[in-house]
Amino acid sequence: MVFRIVQIGDPVLRAASRPVERDEIRSPGIQQLIEWMRATMYDAPGVGLAAPQIGLSLQLAVIEDRADLLQSIPPEHLEERKRRPVPFQVLINPRVRTEGQTVEFFEGCLSVSGFAALVPRFTEVQVDCLDHRGEPISFRAEGWHARIVQHEVDHLSGTVYVDRMHTRSLTTTSHLSRHWNELPIDELKKRLAI
Ligand code: ZN
Repeated sequence: MVFRIVQIGDPVLRAASRPVERDEIRSPGIQQLIEWMRATMYDAPGVGLAAPQIGLSLQLAVIEDRADLLQSIPPEHLEERKRRPVPFQVLINPRVRTEGQTVEFFEGCLSVSGFAALVPRFTEVQVDCLDHRGEPISFRAEGWHARIVQHEVDHLSGTVYVDRMHTRSLTTTSHLSRHWNELPIDELKKRLAI
């Protein structure tokens, strides 16, 4: 099954989600939910999906940056963003410690369909969470993976990228590819008076 993705303005995207109990994670309901969220993320397609985006106020998100979706992106573009394939991950009740410095790139959100903006994010994160079986895991992520984690974990506290973006950089995705995507960040910030 593929869920309909909730769009900005729905109160569920602004609510703080509740944690999921370990026993609950192993229930058929949550196991099915994880598979359907995965299917919804593939269908979109997107690199992450948080439960509030399908209308559920739960601290649960899925992430995957698939190698086949990266093939259409120029290698220098991937290198600049430190973007590499990320295997499927389930993050439940995550706690994130941000590290390193911030870098600015355009990002979008399946719940703000058709738009993108320049968003500063930390280059590294340390994550503690439960996995799809309810087992505690911790991992470190960097580059684009760290950006995805910060974006999805924000959803669980009712934060959307528009809260963190440079407001003057907001663009439709078609204008992004036509006017902004190929410019060096310094140059486009100058043109946008950021
Ligand atoms: Zn999003």
